[in-house]
Amino acid sequence: MRQLLFAANWKMNVGPDEARAYFKTFRARYLPHEGRDAWFFPPAVSVEAAAQAARERNDMLVGVQDIYWEPKGAFTGEVSAPLAVQAGARAALIGHSERRHVFGETDEDTRKKVAAAQAANLVAMLCVGETLAERDAGHTLAVVNRQLSGALGGLDVAALDRVIIAYEPVWAIGTGKNATPQDASAVHKEIRAWLRGRGATRARVLYGGSVNLKNSAALLAEHELDGVLVGGASLDPEAWAQLVQTPAA
Ligand code: PEP
Repeated sequence: MRQLLFAANWKMNVGPDEARAYFKTFRARYLPHEGRDAWFFPPAVSVEAAAQAARERNDMLVGVQDIYWEPKGAFTGEVSAPLAVQAGARAALIGHSERRHVFGETDEDTRKKVAAAQAANLVAMLCVGETLAERDAGHTLAVVNRQLSGALGGLDVAALDRVIIAYEPVWAIGTGKNATPQDASAVHKEIRAWLRGRGATRARVLYGGSVNLKNSAALLAEHELDGVLVGGASLDPEAWAQLVQTPAA
């Protein structure tokens, strides 16, 4: 049976009190289902509240949306992997398109962040994806391969197998436009080929970009997708509980 991962990226929404209320509703509406995991990436200030609220549910896990690569020190405003672990995080998003395109994060930054996450035993979820201009120029696969090599090029097979990749075309994030299931599947195949070329066969590959209740079943019908990373449609706990129950062939 496929083990599907439904990951919620709350971005800069949902404070600690709201997170507690969210989990009360979500836990009541969504009981564990075999073959499904529900992960949550709240803003850093809400990680501890969310991790507490998700406890005793083996199918649920809380992560951070970003980390800095140094473990501690004079880096005002940053959160390190060991600090996130102390707050209850077990995973970290790395290289989200908003980090890359709003905050100027580079491939080299993502490499250091993946290494820092793994050193602290956080699951690194690396986001990759092309802009509209890159897509229109026919550069999708070149961009994704560059981002994979930049972040993961130095890892051995065991480390690669622990990474999760989220393919998120930048033009599909928060725009209401999403890649067709076939488009997503084609890029996922390329990502798996990149991993296989380095001996890694276990890494999970998710799709993200305007996933919602209307398109999730068609996307998950593609067996290349091991799950979805969802922003806007994860903010309402009732709707998210429904989305996590998307029927999958
Ligand atoms: C995201 O934030 O990773 C994302 C995919 O957002 P949205 O679902 O809102 O497009």
